[in-house]
Amino acid sequence: MPKPHLQPLPATRHEAIEQGEKKFFPVEPCKHGHSSPRYTMSGRCCECQRQSYLDDKRAFEEARKRKQERAIKERSATTKQHA
Ligand SMILES: [Zn+2]
Repeated sequence: MPKPHLQPLPATRHEAIEQGEKKFFPVEPCKHGHSSPRYTMSGRCCECQRQSYLDDKRAFEEARKRKQERAIKERSATTKQHA
């Protein structure tokens, strides 16, 4: 019996569910043109998922940076007021 991860991924979500696969690999690319596997649970393209994760991460880091900068600015303003 071959190891599960060496088997090709099913081409449809239905097959993936039947086979208990976490992912399937449709012939058609996603609407963003990625030829990559999709998650069985969400039906989402792995590449889209990865990119939205990276975008979220970038947005989160930028927001955190802005917050830190604002905090530093506010702290120095506060310090000046009290000095
Ligand atoms: Zn995609």
